[in-house]
Amino acid sequence: MEYLNFINGKEVKSASGRVTDVIDPYTQKVIAKVQRSNKEDVNLAVESARKAFDMWGNTTPAERSGLMYKLADLVEKNMSRLAKMESINQGKSIKMSKESDFVFAIDNLRFYAGAARLMEGKSAYKYSPDGLSIIKREPIGVVAAIIPWNYPFMLACWKLAAVAAGNTIIIKPASTTPLTALELARLSKKAGFPDGVINVLTGLGDEVGSELARHHGIDMITLTGNTETGKKIMQIASGNLKKVHLELGGKAPFIVFDDANIDSAVSSALVGSIVNSGQDCTAAARIYLNEKIYDEFVRRLKDEAKKVKLGNPLNNDTDLGPLNSRQHFEKVSKYLEIAKKEGRILYSGKEQKGWFMPVHIIDGIEQKSSLCREEIFGPLIIIFKFKTEDEAIRLANDTVYGLASSVWTKDLSKAF
Ligand code: NAD
Repeated sequence: MEYLNFINGKEVKSASGRVTDVIDPYTQKVIAKVQRSNKEDVNLAVESARKAFDMWGNTTPAERSGLMYKLADLVEKNMSRLAKMESINQGKSIKMSKESDFVFAIDNLRFYAGAARLMEGKSAYKYSPDGLSIIKREPIGVVAAIIPWNYPFMLACWKLAAVAAGNTIIIKPASTTPLTALELARLSKKAGFPDGVINVLTGLGDEVGSELARHHGIDMITLTGNTETGKKIMQIASGNLKKVHLELGGKAPFIVFDDANIDSAVSSALVGSIVNSGQDCTAAARIYLNEKIYDEFVRRLKDEAKKVKLGNPLNNDTDLGPLNSRQHFEKVSKYLEIAKKEGRILYSGKEQKGWFMPVHIIDGIEQKSSLCREEIFGPLIIIFKFKTEDEAIRLANDTVYGLASSVWTKDLSKAF
């Protein structure tokens, strides 16, 4: 099946006529073709979004809110079908798609429906003797939104915050997971969003993605993605000083003190590290354990890890599906090879054919290792030992990332 771009409320072919394959990471078969968009397609989408902004930027909060609610309802109505499509295209378990991604996506849309009514500013009395100062919150214009492949639908919905605030949008999904964003665009039309308010262009990051970052008809670019991509986009976007909003990578520390509730720390460490097969920016990527509980924690973590079930993402009892692409599977496999050389593999789950990465528990890794410093984005649980609170904080903060972290203790003042 061939999917088309969604521009100005219509489904259109890419100007180049070129397409790319969309792969099911479980069967490794081609499941669809999408447009490989280029500069001309970006021009068309920008023209459509600019034109629509003249009208959309002047709608009332009530109008925008009403449409967001309608879209949320439509997503809810279509959730089963879309969640299945997401799991087939992304590889995540159907349990996760249904019980997490889509639930949050729908809730986010409803949240934005409410937030659309809260674009309130401030006024100040006599900042200058003769003046009245008013701070207004108003839409920016055309926003380009670039989405990663780990939460394709949910993150496309997150970006619709821009639309709730009165901006028009051009969404570019990740090249391996474009399908549900295109379905979202179709539903937006059904919900009644005017043509040109929500546009979706598919294609490659360094082609259509960088064209969006470069285009002077775009007022803001928002990327959720890799830190290196963020740096590139920030640089390219400087051409017209467009506003840049970046949500980038993470290498979250997970610190467990000796007074923690071990049961909940162990189960959270496991879920936190392997959620979405570890393809999560906030995944617990560095587990720091107090030396006094180290052995017990590792023993229990292994017991829990043994219960994790890999398999067909569409089976209701599957916990982890395959990694999203061959390229990503090869990347995580390289990190596993480094782990085997540098550290000790304390546990490894049963291997499966395909792009499956079983859960591994690893220790003996040095803080300076790439395994501790770079995003792996796979279910490799890397654990470290610490003696004192100061040491734990120093090790946890010894990173270029700053996205998420957690502290496990019963002592609230220590946690704070
Ligand atoms: P990525 O940066 O490789 O790709 C993200 C998007 O950017 C894709 O749509 C891609 O096509 C596009 N892109 C790639 N190169 C580009 C370029 N030169 N110009 C413009 N666009 C370009 O990231 P990914 O591998 O898809 O996603 C995983 C990354 O996303 C991880 O680093 C993860 O931590 C991060 N992430 C962060 C959050 C957050 O909220 N902070 C949430 C999810 C994912």
